[in-house]
Amino acid sequence: MPNTDDEGTMTPGGVLQTPKGVHDILPNDHEYYTYIKKVVRHRLRQAGFRRISTPMFEFTQLFQRAIGNDTDVVSKEMYTFQDKKGRSLTLKPEGTAGVMRSYIQNNMQALPQPVQLYYIEPHFRYDRPQKGRYRQFWQLGFEIVGESDPALDAQIIYLANLINKDLGIADLFTVQLNSIGTPESRKEYMRVLQDFYFDKERSLCELCKTRLKTNPMRLLDCKEENCRILAQIAPKISEYLDAESKEFHEDLKEYLTELGIKFVENPYLVRGLDYYTKTVFEFWDKTEGAQNAIGGGGRYDGLVELLGGKPTPGSGYAAGVERIVANMKREKIRVPHKDVIHVFIAQLGKEAKKKGLSLMSDLRDAGVKTMASLGKDSVRTQLGLADKFGAPYTIIIGLTEVREGVVIIRDMKVGTQKTVPFDEIVDVVIKLIGKQNLDTYSAGELTYE
Ligand code: AMP
Repeated sequence: MPNTDDEGTMTPGGVLQTPKGVHDILPNDHEYYTYIKKVVRHRLRQAGFRRISTPMFEFTQLFQRAIGNDTDVVSKEMYTFQDKKGRSLTLKPEGTAGVMRSYIQNNMQALPQPVQLYYIEPHFRYDRPQKGRYRQFWQLGFEIVGESDPALDAQIIYLANLINKDLGIADLFTVQLNSIGTPESRKEYMRVLQDFYFDKERSLCELCKTRLKTNPMRLLDCKEENCRILAQIAPKISEYLDAESKEFHEDLKEYLTELGIKFVENPYLVRGLDYYTKTVFEFWDKTEGAQNAIGGGGRYDGLVELLGGKPTPGSGYAAGVERIVANMKREKIRVPHKDVIHVFIAQLGKEAKKKGLSLMSDLRDAGVKTMASLGKDSVRTQLGLADKFGAPYTIIIGLTEVREGVVIIRDMKVGTQKTVPFDEIVDVVIKLIGKQNLDTYSAGELTYE
């Protein structure tokens, strides 16, 4: 790590650095991101989800209304700024609020319900940077909107677990599950909590003292030692759930058991955002617990209405991609990737370069991943480069080869060479690397109305 000044903006030598808490995703890490995106797309497409992207920034009001003013995210962690006309905008700290705003704005209520959407996007929170905690991080998430049934929540948890399984990390996590009931049943519970904490206020942290007045349920997931001890003897929400929420929760547990999903009932799980109703869940690290949670979600039946739409139920999940990658690396999981070169073209002289250029595009069109040295280096230097790029074969074209209409192909591992007629070389290369390894372009055929 280079030395950085206090602000972390540059090294003493004046070289600019990234701001604190953000990071580059370098090519080696992109192998993981690409693979994760593939798994997510594959599993969600199988289940009928479609992809959505919402803007990086929205009106601040959206998050204040959806997430709640006294949550950590809204009160401390948002990147909020004014644009040139003085409007307050915020970089999105989470995905659901924007997706629901879009659902209303684009009249998705008129579509067959439920509407199933997924996203993989960067998000922004002014968090204290530490292991697994960044100021820009990627989240994958998915939502089922327009229907309310515990079977849908079970589906979401099942899919989240399936994605973790495909990525080789499911066994590292436990599903923590709770119901925080309907807003009505919660009102009574909040009164009971306020009574419970009434004579214990002095032992609470400063933030919890204020939360006690605005949203006492937040006290249950405070990480401060004293607050945690008190939370453990506080009344539990399960005793105050209304009949409907109770039945919903019991059904959900039955469905999860049917689907073979193990879960841990956690009466202290409330999630950090205000919009949840009934089901809440998180995937906790088996050794580090909530600290290294990989994802979480729940039901948010009141959210669309809160944003000005017709009452519409919904349920969803979001997971942190950086944390997924860190866990995959911790487990020493390697992902298949396609960033390999099949062939390197070395050439000598202008005529050879001309031949090399057209051969390069023919090979690429056939799906052969091809690089070429287009400078003026010696053949020996170019062969050295081919080795460094890890190309298993090098095609060499010099003046003699141009004159005779042939090329030389060299097996870089064995060191053998043979001469091949120019118009046969593409087929020869395809045979050597195997049809199944070609990187062919298959976007599908265009059709016209
Ligand atoms: P949340 O909805 O806040 O529980 O976030 C869902 C998931 O996103 C978490 O379980 C983390 O995996 C990830 N996440 C949240 N905040 C951050 C952050 N600041 N840096 C990296 N990942 C994060």
